[in-house]
Amino acid sequence: AAMRNTRVRRSKTVCTYCGVGCSFEIWTKDRHILKVQPSEGPANDISTCVKGKFGWDFINSPERIKKPLIREGHTFREASWDEALSLVARRFMEIKAQHGPDSIGVISSSKCTNEESYLMQKFARAVIGTNNIDNCSRYCQAPATQGLFRTVGYGGDSGSIHDIAQSSLVVIVGANPAEAHPVLATRVKQAHKLRGQKLIVADIRRHEMAQRADIFFRPAPGTDLVWLSAMSRYMFDHGYAKADFLAQWVNHVDEYRASLEPFTMQHAAEVCGVPIETLVSVAEAIAAAPSMCILWAMGVTQHCAGSDTSTAISNLLLVTGNYMRPGTGAYPLRGHNNVQGASDFGSMPGWFPGYEKVDDPAARARYEQGWGVKIPEAKGLDNHEMVNAIYEGKLRAMYLAGEDMYIADANSNYVGGGFEKLDFFVVQDCFFTPTCRFADVVLPASPSLEKEGTFTSTERRVQRLYQVLEPLGESLPDWRITTALANKMGANWTYQHPSDIMHESASLAPMFAGIHYDRLQGFDSLQWPVAADGTDQPLLYTEKFAFPDGKARLHPLEYHAPESVEDDVYDLHLNNGRLLEHFHGGNMTGRVAGIHEETPNPFLEVSPELAADRSLVSGQWVRLTSPNGHLRIRVLVSDRVQGKQIYLPLNTLFTDATNMLTGHHTDHDTHTPAYKETPVRMEVLPET
Ligand code: SF4
Repeated sequence: AAMRNTRVRRSKTVCTYCGVGCSFEIWTKDRHILKVQPSEGPANDISTCVKGKFGWDFINSPERIKKPLIREGHTFREASWDEALSLVARRFMEIKAQHGPDSIGVISSSKCTNEESYLMQKFARAVIGTNNIDNCSRYCQAPATQGLFRTVGYGGDSGSIHDIAQSSLVVIVGANPAEAHPVLATRVKQAHKLRGQKLIVADIRRHEMAQRADIFFRPAPGTDLVWLSAMSRYMFDHGYAKADFLAQWVNHVDEYRASLEPFTMQHAAEVCGVPIETLVSVAEAIAAAPSMCILWAMGVTQHCAGSDTSTAISNLLLVTGNYMRPGTGAYPLRGHNNVQGASDFGSMPGWFPGYEKVDDPAARARYEQGWGVKIPEAKGLDNHEMVNAIYEGKLRAMYLAGEDMYIADANSNYVGGGFEKLDFFVVQDCFFTPTCRFADVVLPASPSLEKEGTFTSTERRVQRLYQVLEPLGESLPDWRITTALANKMGANWTYQHPSDIMHESASLAPMFAGIHYDRLQGFDSLQWPVAADGTDQPLLYTEKFAFPDGKARLHPLEYHAPESVEDDVYDLHLNNGRLLEHFHGGNMTGRVAGIHEETPNPFLEVSPELAADRSLVSGQWVRLTSPNGHLRIRVLVSDRVQGKQIYLPLNTLFTDATNMLTGHHTDHDTHTPAYKETPVRMEVLPET
């Protein structure tokens, strides 16, 4: 037994799935995962969900890419690292020489570590010489960040999961945490059930949290800005606005109040299709609550008005004085485990690590000096603009890490058509994803269990993961690949360990000044901003808002109806979101046998009314068609959806993905695709 036990290892890691940031010990013997043991995770204590507990077998999948692959005609052949990286370096340098540095785009991954996203933006800015660097927060929470930048200053949750649990009122708008952020949802469920916390849910779909809510209402798609603004007006009109708080801490109060003139309750009831009595009861509950947190996700952000609606949420929190205290604040729920960190560490076209703008001369000078290069002043292209730039002939090559962009970006047919036009396309991933089919070179990357580094969760919590297993085959951690590629292109990067990268980042980005691996041992964590002495901020805005004068800013808004709406031809409203068991395209969870058996097939939720109207039964095949494409899917009749609203999980497991249907509209401020504004039509297929 003693001999056998010597091969059992316990290593601390951080979940690779959602942004809650659960951490736990993982027991392994050779490459076998024996068990996942949560014990003292700062976000999760002893909890995990099904994905964190059982979702790891993909690491040993026979489909892992184990060697670099180089395209030959319509197929790929295996190659050595030296050959593959030499080819990539040569082609990038040729394209840069011929078309300029801005003809190359770089996209980092929200599955990569903070250190890896830092290196990807450094690679773009210092080695290629472009600000064309982005990450997939462009597909989810960039509008939430924009709403917070406008109003309170920091692009992150204003407190901790602990704060949500102790709030008197939780309002959830366009989010489904019971499936998308399960451990966080458990905290809310407990507080609601056991401690009298009030719960209000606004959503078009009656998901589990909606069923539990004290008040649940269904605003028409794309109208949340209207009822949120009506709430703010109601607070002023009825003397509920927190006058002392506003006077001391908030700018533009009069201008904002004047802008609320159109947003009466009557108007909101008409536009949103919600009874006025319901809206008034919501307003009274908000006014009566000693503390309120508002949680939101992609039901808000993936609309043409995603940034403005996120701003409306923050405006309401300011009007009601729900910032600067425990149990209050704004909580955009982060989807991927490190989507927060990918943005924080500078994989953004307009921002350096720690949210300093690239056109800020002082910040740019600091990075130019630190890296010994010149950095362009102008903001680069975001990933939506990159695809358009391919069609315009301006973007000729891409380096894409850990992102199944063909499946994840809206309008897959358009994105794939763009990839086909690229002169040179490098994809770095653990699996041969549908996106890899368009690549010229595929570089095999290692998943989280095979590397060291840090992740930052939705509550701005930076946590360390330790290497549990050796990289499979010849795969390598992304930071090693990017370092090797940079050095092939003439850089002299000498990082031996991710802690070296974090050290460099801390020396350049004031927001991370005190982040050091010594302070992140084991389960120790830090919530940014972290001062040089190591003081972190579990609760933001305790002493001031993050603007030069310390005051928040109310931001006037106008309502514009959704651009892409149902008509006679495309008569159904397609909504999409997550499932508990699976994660996104299914590249990981689809390769975990137990999870795949549990939920093997994608399905389309159809309301009982629509089913009756079209003579549909569960299990029947239908074809959905939009102006952008079509897919086949089986029907599940469910009263979670109503009327002509249908719901497709975005985890469509490699094929027939939602984004075959989604279109080209985006949020006006951030270019986040308006995934939730997709009219489609449905044909019933003969049984197959
Ligand atoms: Fe992982 Fe999120 Fe589940 Fe926690 S709640 S175990 S972070 S997927």
